[in-house]
Amino acid sequence: MADIKFYSGESFPLEMHKVCIVQKLNLLPIEQRRIAIDEAGNNTFLLKNRDVYLDMLTDSGVNAMSDRQQAAMLVADDSYAGSETFFRLERVIQDIFGTRFFLPAHQGRACENIIAQVFVKPGTVVATNYHFTTTKAHVTLNGGSIEEIYKADALEITSDKPFKGDIDLEKLRALIQRQGAEQIAFVRIEAGTNLIGGQPVSLANMRDVHQLCQKHGIPLVLDASLLADNLYFNKLREPECRDMSLREITRTMAGLCDLIYFSARKLGCARGGGMCMNSEEIYKRIRDKIVLYEGFLTYGGMSVREIEAIAVGLEETMDMDMISQGPQFIRFMVEQLVEKGIPVITPPGGLGCHLDAGAFLPHLSQAQYPAGALAAALYLVSGVRGMERGTLSEQRNADGSERYSDMELLRLALPRRVFTMSQVKYAIDRIVWLYEHRALVGGLRFVEEPELLRFFFGRLAPTSDWQDRLVAQFRTDLGDSL
Ligand SMILES: *Cc1c(COP(=O)(O)O)cnc(C)c1O
Repeated sequence: MADIKFYSGESFPLEMHKVCIVQKLNLLPIEQRRIAIDEAGNNTFLLKNRDVYLDMLTDSGVNAMSDRQQAAMLVADDSYAGSETFFRLERVIQDIFGTRFFLPAHQGRACENIIAQVFVKPGTVVATNYHFTTTKAHVTLNGGSIEEIYKADALEITSDKPFKGDIDLEKLRALIQRQGAEQIAFVRIEAGTNLIGGQPVSLANMRDVHQLCQKHGIPLVLDASLLADNLYFNKLREPECRDMSLREITRTMAGLCDLIYFSARKLGCARGGGMCMNSEEIYKRIRDKIVLYEGFLTYGGMSVREIEAIAVGLEETMDMDMISQGPQFIRFMVEQLVEKGIPVITPPGGLGCHLDAGAFLPHLSQAQYPAGALAAALYLVSGVRGMERGTLSEQRNADGSERYSDMELLRLALPRRVFTMSQVKYAIDRIVWLYEHRALVGGLRFVEEPELLRFFFGRLAPTSDWQDRLVAQFRTDLGDSL
């Protein structure tokens, strides 16, 4: 995005694109939203999109495509085997990452399923800067466990540390000592880190981790799903990257890793996924599983139209104008909320704006799912749909007890290039109103609790009549506004 100085002294990001296609949105009156959230079991995953005004649930598969992506979808080559479309994507991947081999999969977790099956044996450990929900589920399903080796400051809500996603090398050394290198299935770097606020990883840290892994013969795996945002921050915050092109940074990173996988629902702004590597041995071990779980090697469960869109989308990821809108809008939102005294994760990261539900609702214990309650409350007062990233998103311990999350967050994703500044301002306005009436917000309890990934379809109920009181207060303050 262009670095524009405004004569007025104001400061806000300026888009380097224009809107070509629009989609109509609905904003229901609060009474109807009250019914909708009740029917959804107070789980924002279960809301119907037609009842949502701003869908800030996720950045997955909902990023705006470019005109060039849309155009490419019309010339896709549909065939089971040997599709020209596939080879186009393969060439782009080889060019961007500099790797020899590419294997397609239908989305990020499909890669994780296969990687876990290939590398994780019962009793082994996957060391990572921070887990992602689906990653952890696949690792544990294969009998492994996750060890998080983030730095001490990674979980500080308020911070000015530029790379909170970095791995703590001392923790990694200690883990290797304790477990023995052969018990570590792989080290996984998630760049950027989804669950701790889209915080980036530095290139320097990746280099150090690579050296340590190399020395002990431990494979290094990069989850590049959120790489676009991470690259933006490398370029902006890391001195050695300032004079490198995005292409150079990407290639340097890739050169440090044995295996790279990504969700193309995020990276490349389409829908799909894939893995790339230089080692023929790793390629062959993974290849056999692709045909079993995903499809033939030249589509891997993806539509060829999406493959075309990914190829163009990945190319466009190498353009600073194309990847800046998300992080810059997020920074605007975070800075506005900080100014109003609202607890959010700082510094601003990628993916979205993360409200600290623990500090927003200090009167709720973690057993009352404060982040889930805040998600339901914000939808109620605004029609904005966020995602709980707290205790609800954890799995219970083996003995059935709650596993309380490190952070209770409400994530408000800003899908790339989707929302306008006035929509972001509307969301800020309603968050400020809710913060001023936070004492009214009560907790949630489970009515129906699935065993695996319970946050997706679990149903909850408010622990009191707090939602009715919130609606009444809204009417008192805002009259007959929607
Ligand atoms: C979204 C995401 C995944 C999973 O990708 P899907 O395409 O949703 O299956 C894995 N890792 C990270 C860091 C993600 O953000």
